[in-house]
Amino acid sequence: MRAAFIAVGSELLGIERLDTNSLRMARRLQRYGVSLGRKSVIGDDPTELVTELTSVLGRFDLLIVSGGLGPTGDDRTRESMATACGVGLHLDESIVDDIRRKFDSFGRKMPEVNRRQAYVLDGAKVLENSRGTAPGLQIEQSGTTCFLFPGVPHELDYLASTFLDPWLEEQAGEIQLEATVLKVACRGESAVEEKIASAYDEFGAEAVTVLASPGEVRIELWARGGAKDRAIRLQEMSDRVAGFLGPAVFTRVADQDLEGVCGELLGELGATVATAESCTGGWIAQRLTATPGSSAYFLGSIVAYSNQAKVDLLGVPEDLIAEHGAVSREVAIALAEGARERIGSDYAIGVTGIAGPDGGSEEKPVGTVHVAVAGPRGSGDLIHQRAVFPGDREKVRRLTSQLGLELLRRRLLDPNYRPGGW
Ligand code: ATP
Ligand code: MG
Repeated sequence: MRAAFIAVGSELLGIERLDTNSLRMARRLQRYGVSLGRKSVIGDDPTELVTELTSVLGRFDLLIVSGGLGPTGDDRTRESMATACGVGLHLDESIVDDIRRKFDSFGRKMPEVNRRQAYVLDGAKVLENSRGTAPGLQIEQSGTTCFLFPGVPHELDYLASTFLDPWLEEQAGEIQLEATVLKVACRGESAVEEKIASAYDEFGAEAVTVLASPGEVRIELWARGGAKDRAIRLQEMSDRVAGFLGPAVFTRVADQDLEGVCGELLGELGATVATAESCTGGWIAQRLTATPGSSAYFLGSIVAYSNQAKVDLLGVPEDLIAEHGAVSREVAIALAEGARERIGSDYAIGVTGIAGPDGGSEEKPVGTVHVAVAGPRGSGDLIHQRAVFPGDREKVRRLTSQLGLELLRRRLLDPNYRPGGW
């Protein structure tokens, strides 16, 4: 089966916004073995939209359109679809009532323009949208099944899982494609590839996908078949790859991130953490606190950017900075120890580095960072790692936060962990 996707909205042609709805739709389609043969972005221009719709109808089995179902005059998806299909539009009073009820529930009066959202293509099925005002529409035309969805991402996702998935499931039958995921932090893509090399032979190259983003490598393992066989196969493959990678795998849950894993481990240990951050400016603290419930284990952070702040706020000895420089093993350790002591946590992460673009030297080039984790056993319970990260300021800072969290995770898993190995 082949599908086309059209994102509608003039803002998606501007300089501020990208169409990301198509990415999530592509993932959804992949699962059912549907290939996306065409995607396009069209502004709020009915002529362009009718042309695009006409060229797609009859050529693809499935068409998904997102956006342009809003109440204002520039939302033209309904009219354009009617023109392209050569069908009429009729006002459905029960949808008007429904939209009015939604406004009532917010204590607001329905603006008259919202009546536009109650127009239905003749012959279309109305897809009730409990997340917004505009319902989606489904219509068959020239052998193409068309779904018209709102552009607002969470409304689109809701309608797609409620109406598109069951349709895809019916088309695909029992045989579906599914992936399981393993994630590794702070390792290069090629190092991971090397570790799991034999998986390509064992499972077939098409079953293994390795995707790298800054500081993270994501391994997807794909299996096709009926639900039960698929589940068994995915488990087998995942166990095998986890065996190749050992504790470098921080999660086998697709939507779990490194900060979430650290939080889970701290929760299990009943332990707390604090951070002392220089070059990351609080980024590690921001990531740790992004997880709901983090107040149970995250105590606080001190962002100490200047040398004086490191001395005053975290008790880093002045002569240590004078002797080794602010970006050094010694200062990273003193930051971690200072945070642990002053904030009163069990563990603390200390980071210092040169994020650039200026401030590098031959001995300490831009991207040089020192990260330390102090543990609850007190003096000497320390791990430290130096790294020289490539990339711009943003990337160096991101990678530093990733390294801080990864060192914490490894230390939480293993009290005798020493950085450097695999
Ligand atoms: P609706 O059909 O829900 O009324 P609309 O076209 O009226 O859709 P807009 O007001 O254009 O909705 O968009 C709502 C929000 O959704 C905006 O923030 C917009 O940028 C976002 N959005 C719309 N389409 C996409 C897309 N393809 N990818 C990512 N974001 C999108
Ligand atoms: Mg729009």
